[in-house]
Amino acid sequence: METETVSELMDHISEKKLEIALKINTTVRAEMGAFLRDRGFVEIPPVIFSTVTDPLNHPVYDPSFEYEGTRYALTKSMIFHKQIIVQKIPKIFTFSPNVRLEMPEKAKTGRHLLEFTQLDLEVKGATREELMQLGEELFIHTVSKVMEKHSEELAMLGRKLHVPAKPFKAYKYTEAEARYGPEFESILSEKSTDPFWIIDIPLKQREFYDREKDDEPGILRDMDLIYPEGYCEALSGGEREYDLERIKERILKKGQTFEQFKWFLEFAKGGLELSCGFGIGIERFVRYICGFQRIEDVHPFPKVPGKVSV
Ligand code: AMP
Ligand code: MG
Repeated sequence: METETVSELMDHISEKKLEIALKINTTVRAEMGAFLRDRGFVEIPPVIFSTVTDPLNHPVYDPSFEYEGTRYALTKSMIFHKQIIVQKIPKIFTFSPNVRLEMPEKAKTGRHLLEFTQLDLEVKGATREELMQLGEELFIHTVSKVMEKHSEELAMLGRKLHVPAKPFKAYKYTEAEARYGPEFESILSEKSTDPFWIIDIPLKQREFYDREKDDEPGILRDMDLIYPEGYCEALSGGEREYDLERIKERILKKGQTFEQFKWFLEFAKGGLELSCGFGIGIERFVRYICGFQRIEDVHPFPKVPGKVSV
């Protein structure tokens, strides 16, 4: 593990650029919350640990602990909690602190932290297309408000932003991959001046809970929003599988066990209806707005993969 001196860990605290990033962070969180509340969304409290959490589709270390004979994991995402509560309250969001102990090599991307916050939302009965529209409006609203309130700070950072027009461009995953190769996301991100979508992501790239297309097995009704200028992934989302038998099949296909998702499956026995949602990383959004190379520059106490942190 790479260690640093106390001064290396603390010097950035007094930098002007951190102060600006935190002011922008304040506006981003306030405006995103206000946008959703105005549209009838209900804010739910975050879940910090649980008997069930996101299995993710990439390797991370697994922090868990036992309390009174039960094993709990720190939250990697609130996907299952969202899918459960949205059955009762049809439009929900939460600012969810996630812990994902990413492998040290992830530090190279400049967009991974071990602890971050996602604005995670879910809508009952909604389609992917409706959520893409909501995502575009949320992005446009937030960037416009930041530009309005922080023009001076953005100028100090030398950051020029513009508000993109709707609808954003959408590329199908397999088509983009065939045209630009395995690095298609970063190639397209670097070439673009506006955010864009990657849709129809194949099953093997994703967790079990996103819904497969009826007419194209193996392809999901899901989407990623990608920032322009090389900033890469902003959000991931999709329609959720709601049929219990199909959920179980998908768990087995991923080589996972029913035991891992016991409480979610118990709830699902009562019947689930379609929902769709997404999660957008707040630190990545602020990094993009500020035009920073590295995500840790937006956080006073960043947890960088492979490094010791406060
Ligand atoms: P996911 O559903 O796994 O794509 O996570 C939702 C969003 O959270 C992503 O699109 C990112 O914006 C953000 N995110 C995921 N992992 C990290 C990380 N390790 N550090 C910072 N942000 C992250
Ligand atoms: Mg993702």
